[in-house]
Amino acid sequence: MILGIDLGTTNSLVGVMEAGFPVLLADADGRRLTPSVVHFPANEGASPLVGAPAARMRLIEPARTVHSIKRFMGARGGDPETEADASRVLYDVTRTPAGAPVRVRVGDREHSPEEVSALILAKLRADAVRSLGQDVSRAVVTVPAYFNDAQRAATRRAGELAGLTVERILPEPTAAALAYGLERLGERSKVAVFDLGGGTFDLSILELNEGVFQVLATHGNTRLGGDDLDRALARYLLARLRERFPDLGEPDPRLAATIRDAAEQAKVRLSDAPETDVEIPFAHGGESFAVRLGRGDFERLAKPVLEPIRNLCARALEDTRLKPEDLQAVVLVGGSTRMPMVRAMAGEIFRRDPDTTQHPDEAVASGAVLQAGILSGDVRNVTLLDVTPLSLGLETFGGLMNVLIPRNSAIPTKAGEMFTNAAPGQTAMRLHVLQGERELARDNFSLGQFELEFEPAPRGQARVGVQFSLDADGILTVLARDTKTGRERVVELKSAVDVADARVEAMLASSLEHAFEDFHERRLAEARLKADELLPAVKVALAEAGSELNEDEHAEIARQVAAVEVARAGDSLPALQAAVAALDEATQMLATILIERAMEESLRRKGVV
Ligand code: AMP
Repeated sequence: MILGIDLGTTNSLVGVMEAGFPVLLADADGRRLTPSVVHFPANEGASPLVGAPAARMRLIEPARTVHSIKRFMGARGGDPETEADASRVLYDVTRTPAGAPVRVRVGDREHSPEEVSALILAKLRADAVRSLGQDVSRAVVTVPAYFNDAQRAATRRAGELAGLTVERILPEPTAAALAYGLERLGERSKVAVFDLGGGTFDLSILELNEGVFQVLATHGNTRLGGDDLDRALARYLLARLRERFPDLGEPDPRLAATIRDAAEQAKVRLSDAPETDVEIPFAHGGESFAVRLGRGDFERLAKPVLEPIRNLCARALEDTRLKPEDLQAVVLVGGSTRMPMVRAMAGEIFRRDPDTTQHPDEAVASGAVLQAGILSGDVRNVTLLDVTPLSLGLETFGGLMNVLIPRNSAIPTKAGEMFTNAAPGQTAMRLHVLQGERELARDNFSLGQFELEFEPAPRGQARVGVQFSLDADGILTVLARDTKTGRERVVELKSAVDVADARVEAMLASSLEHAFEDFHERRLAEARLKADELLPAVKVALAEAGSELNEDEHAEIARQVAAVEVARAGDSLPALQAAVAALDEATQMLATILIERAMEESLRRKGVV
């Protein structure tokens, strides 16, 4: 059994497949929505509070209560967006040195964002275990589509810290589209997922292709959501409060928080009711405050906040060159899409009634559960959404890795490239198929090798086209064709997608760890190739035009050739580069003579001279 988990900025959910349906699980108090909040009590011996009890501590002990930790996953100090996020929370994340992974400081303890997220995941897992009456340790966890590798890796680590094996990291819009239902969509249909939550807006356009969802485009704003509407309404309420109590001054944190809460509740009520009364008991000097608010009043405040959504949607459509009519559905998810104004806006932008069949808070979690069901075999007849976990490529000259399909490409996919022979008269090319992120072939995983025979040709003259195609099941087929003779070989390799997570992690870690050495090795290999091209070329040129050089010029070229040969055998990149440059310089005259000869020859052939 595999859990599906929506690890949200504000709230998180967990579920499993039961009797063919995704079922979201409740905690001991019957709540399915777990606030993504962790409170670290001042009493060192006490364990952290997670979820609703932690959320209640947010007003009381804001510095010990960590919320919105998702914004800091994979983040590093010094990054302007991270700094801006850090300045918006009341707990301490500000003291991270530039470039270092962000740490949350509570009292004199430090926690990584992964550790905080792990506490939330561990609570979800414990709730699931209690509700199911059996242990579960595997999970699918969702992340925003725009999460980069570091953010995805941090999410995976958080899962591991919580004792979970993360079977898949799933983009949230893909989860929402899965929840909407593959069976409702035809092949090649396109769907927009419009996700407006508490803190962020995302618009993604997906295409269903051979049973697999691919994210074609995603645009969003990580600073646009229901919280901004709460703030706008709170500012308005404060202004009205000041009219009533002119000597109010700056509200203390507690009154400010009460106004924010009142604003959010009023906003939520206005999604159903045309008007509502907002009350703030003991607002000032023991006196209470009340005001009646119409939906129109609120919408006037909300309009400028929501306006940027239009542009983001337009950009996603532009990116995909699609018109609203090309979409089969516009799926609304996220708590704020309950607002009539947001629904109307989505309708206007996409010129259709948006689909509101999905539970705004639960669609992503349900999609994660469906994906978990697919992985565990509980849901059949659906192909998996997948990406290549590692790059796929071929070994080329100098033992280097040449990538054809970069890691994280959505599958199915195809890529091709033309290769040539390294040695003159070579009669076959060995194709060594590799998987991994390292620059040198020998450091990557070998998926297989085969040979293609071709007609002997001078160095660099043979033309062998190689195509990699990776199907939806992750099977890699390599086709190699000698373009001259049309001779070809097709080799099917084992699944290139089912790589154990540990191997992927180890590969990524080693590529980071060895990034500098790898870069150096690649440049050294490239410099050696250049030397290998230059030395025989100089020999040929000398044979052709050497007679036109004087003795000194001959001696200088011989000296530089010897220097390149020595440097070629050594390990020093600067020495080799310098020797190659010096040989280039020494053969300038020779090159000029050859070019002039070639030009004369060409003009003669055209009958000009
Ligand atoms: P999410 O991040 O998807 O959990 O969405 C949370 C946001 O949705 C918060 O800003 C909530 O105030 C907002 N929200 C939840 N229900 C409603 C509602 N009925 N009307 C307006 N906003 C809502």
